[in-house]
Amino acid sequence: MFPLTVENKHVAQLLLSTGTCPRCIFRFCGVDFHAPYKLPYKELLSELQKFLETAKDELISEVPNPPPKKIRLQELEDGIDGMDNLSQNGEGKISIIEDGSIASKNSNLNVCNVCLGILQDFCEKEFIKKVCQKVEASGFEFTNLVLSISFPPQLSVREHAAWLLVKQEMGKQSLSLERNDTVQLKEAYKWITHPLFSEELGVPIDGKSLFEVSVVFAHPETVEDCHFLRAICPDCFKPAKNKQSVFTRMAVMKALNKIKEEDFRKQFPCPPNSPKAVCSVVEIECAHGAVFVAGRYNKYSRNLPQTPWIIDGERKLDSSVEELISDHLLTVFKAESFNFSSSGREDVDVRTLGNGRPFAIELVNPHRVHFTSQEIKELQQKINNSSNKIQVRDLQLVTREAIGHMKEGEEEKTKTYSALIWTNKAIQRKDIEFLDDIKLVLHGYLHFFLKQNPATLKSLYMETLEERSRTFAL
Ligand SMILES: [Zn+2]
Repeated sequence: MFPLTVENKHVAQLLLSTGTCPRCIFRFCGVDFHAPYKLPYKELLSELQKFLETAKDELISEVPNPPPKKIRLQELEDGIDGMDNLSQNGEGKISIIEDGSIASKNSNLNVCNVCLGILQDFCEKEFIKKVCQKVEASGFEFTNLVLSISFPPQLSVREHAAWLLVKQEMGKQSLSLERNDTVQLKEAYKWITHPLFSEELGVPIDGKSLFEVSVVFAHPETVEDCHFLRAICPDCFKPAKNKQSVFTRMAVMKALNKIKEEDFRKQFPCPPNSPKAVCSVVEIECAHGAVFVAGRYNKYSRNLPQTPWIIDGERKLDSSVEELISDHLLTVFKAESFNFSSSGREDVDVRTLGNGRPFAIELVNPHRVHFTSQEIKELQQKINNSSNKIQVRDLQLVTREAIGHMKEGEEEKTKTYSALIWTNKAIQRKDIEFLDDIKLVLHGYLHFFLKQNPATLKSLYMETLEERSRTFAL
């Protein structure tokens, strides 16, 4: 069923005649159910025209004083063919529909003066298919997705202008229109395109998905639309390091909230003028949120740092624990990069024995993310087969939160150190007391297995199982 009612006719007529597309007309008439927006554009336009045509007589009979309306429409639409007939037909009829001139213009897809084509070409199946082809070619593995659509910031200015126009029109009929009585462009775009994306890609749209498809629109022709706001509200447009332009959507919205209605009207045409071209798509990008792999590692080499050891740009040792593990993960997850973290660290010449040290690896922008437990086992085996310097165990996919627990554990965990001590002199009571002092220093449970050795070792060497290697002179 066509969603507009008799109360919407004036607004619909006004907007259509000023170059606004049917879907934007629905938005400004507060149509908040999805179905009408999803109709094919041509069908929508002809339905709208039919509605306005059949309503023509009612429209005229409803308006007690049609001439001012005619004049206003003519002023607004100066230059649009067919509008000239308004003052010429002399019968008080709105002939723009009758002679089909507006209809023919719009069916050639006149670019909407409010959405700049977003609710025209860019929500038709053909465009969605193009985006989906890009998504499929990106090689990402995904079971759902989140869409992030970025519109040119000047759309907010045009939206504001159209809102003021409709508000004024409704005011004439003693009706009010708040900003949130209209449907946001983003919302309408979502209603139309989400089902199409979902159908085309065969997966649901889910705001919590880690797989994000972002589409960025630009409209160079109207880029200066928001520039006048800067003069009125310089505070809203402060340069930021990470922004290419001060005219961000947020800044524009902030300025629009501040600017007085009459100031806006002085600076910007209401209705906004019609552009020549539709928006352009400057970016279609896919990205997958990071996934995390955790486990424990043992290190059996005294010649292997935990992370690449680089001093003054020069690499000191060929490899590192993090690389021996992460290189395999990067390949298998087809990730862009990684971040390695662990529960504490050990020096280059210290082995890590026992159950091993917990570690986690963040895989950035992974193209593959779904693995069976068997596949993870095989991956662990692959890492272990590739080097005798390290071994990993308990390899598993974990959540970001689990990494936090690992870091907390670093603060709280109890470490166990064992040391084998040789000395070239007989151990005295005071030597034991000295060791007791070390125990205090390390704050750990220190179990010393002391062996008296008559050999000539001059120092007492302590090897830790999990932490540091130190040499203590006795
Ligand atoms: Zn539009």
